[in-house]
Amino acid sequence: YKKLRLLLGDQLNLQHSWFSHKDQSTLYVLMEIRTETDYVWHHIQKACAFFAAMEGFAETLNNDGHDTLYFKLDDPANKQSFSANCDALIKKYHIESFEYQLPDEYRLDEELKAYCDTLKIPCQAYDTEHFYTTRDELATFFTGKKGLLMENFYREMRKKHDVLMAGDEPVGGKWNFDEDNRNKLPKTHKPHLPLLFNNAVQPQYDRIRNAGIETIGSIDLQNLYWPVNRQQSLELLRYFTENCLPLFGTFQDAMHTDEWSIYHSRLSFSMNTKMLSPREVIGAAHAAWEQNKKAISINQLEGFVRQILGWREYMRGIYWLKMPGFETLNYFDHQRKLPGWYWTGKTKMNCMKHSIGQSLNHAYAHHIQRLMITGNFALLAGIKPDEVDFWYLGIYIDAIQWVEITNTRGMSQYADGGIIGSKPYTASANYIHKQSNYCDNCHYDRTKRIGESSCPFNSLYWDFHDRHRDKLSNNFRLSMVYRLWDKMALHDRDAILLRADFCLENLEEL
Ligand code: FAD
Ligand code: SF4
Repeated sequence: YKKLRLLLGDQLNLQHSWFSHKDQSTLYVLMEIRTETDYVWHHIQKACAFFAAMEGFAETLNNDGHDTLYFKLDDPANKQSFSANCDALIKKYHIESFEYQLPDEYRLDEELKAYCDTLKIPCQAYDTEHFYTTRDELATFFTGKKGLLMENFYREMRKKHDVLMAGDEPVGGKWNFDEDNRNKLPKTHKPHLPLLFNNAVQPQYDRIRNAGIETIGSIDLQNLYWPVNRQQSLELLRYFTENCLPLFGTFQDAMHTDEWSIYHSRLSFSMNTKMLSPREVIGAAHAAWEQNKKAISINQLEGFVRQILGWREYMRGIYWLKMPGFETLNYFDHQRKLPGWYWTGKTKMNCMKHSIGQSLNHAYAHHIQRLMITGNFALLAGIKPDEVDFWYLGIYIDAIQWVEITNTRGMSQYADGGIIGSKPYTASANYIHKQSNYCDNCHYDRTKRIGESSCPFNSLYWDFHDRHRDKLSNNFRLSMVYRLWDKMALHDRDAILLRADFCLENLEEL
């Protein structure tokens, strides 16, 4: 071989131009290595899904006539790092040039740049040909502008890529249909069952277990139901557009004790591993809407497009603009430890029990569960952002740092002091009850702010705003909150803060 091309575990893009022609002098390599399995406690479904998808990808490449080498975790020749494995291959095959695709993680980007500096042969990095935007496109867009508002970026992307545009105007006459998309699941409404696959992952599981890798969560080894190849990913996409898109927006923020994905697409793993591109996902949703505008109203489609063309690309841009500093931001100087029940779901708070429980069972929670339940609680309770990131980066099937940390440290913990959000996403039981049935059977009383049976979210909500008055009270979006707080009688406020103190001192027992 003359050329070695490294592929990372989240670079499973069969449509990449690298694969448009065959070249017998190029060797592709993918590897399962300890540096990637051990940086957090990954959910076991996530670890198995990654390995299964990577292995399948290598097999597909070989079948398509691209020479591909796959290092399994327990391969005696596997030196457990990208550089050591590549060094060995370069030496063994007298490789004359090294190429890789730009990593989405800062850590790997640095590692591969540093590796290239050690090589005496030519190196080249290629675009992954996945995203709508380049790494620095967001930074360029906002240069000279005030703030980094997602909405402005999203509108620009809609125009630039001609998505849902009628000339210069947004289709439907509005850019944003969020107001139509905040419904609770009605009592008698049963969403479509999620489409699940039956991937057998015993070999991948055994490799992980035999290596003694620490993981979390549960798995059915005969039925790993996440898509692990392009065909399954396309099937899931089709299932989504036919069955879920018609009500995606309507119930986007809804939560329910019996449902773990409602009308969400569960396409994040397929997209984050690049088995599917955001363009084809948006293209498929758009085509479904074109074909059946009666069944799919514009707010459903716009809500979905906003997540992918808006939030997903925006988070990636913020990541490259703000890393590596972003990783250490802690605006509120929160220092508390994550309560142990984040790892077990064993808490009396019904909303937390369900959101954590389903995360451990399915390696999945939808956006509002992540943001307004588990994230909201961690923020109100003043948990150290490092601890919060560690949890989010491991537990979800789609967790990769570029999109995890921006959502967690930025959007949900406001540890960035307002780079991403214009105010912290906080809520008391009121909101949780409005969007879910969690409060119906809870140990705690959602209507109470004080007393043993009062919902912890209620006192913690006020305590958080009181504690951080100096940092937040000038935010005009919070003026109402502070006005309400200040209007309360002093003894009521004291009683709420006392209850919050008790909750904070007894977090493990809540
Ligand atoms: P859908 O609701 O069907 O949305 C469609 C797609 O839009 C998703 O697949 C995803 O690609 C994209 N999307 C939606 N919201 C966002 C967002 N806020 N940022 C970026 N993309 C978005 N997403 C990840 O992919 N990886 C993570 O590690 C991750 N961590 C998160 C942590 C927290 C605290 C929060 C609040 C959100 C996080 N998200 C993360 C964003 C979002 O919750 C998930 O992308 C979504 O729940 C995935 O499920 P889905 O595919 O069913 O999404
Ligand atoms: Fe969660 Fe409070 Fe509702 Fe219980 S009462 S489910 S703790 S919001």
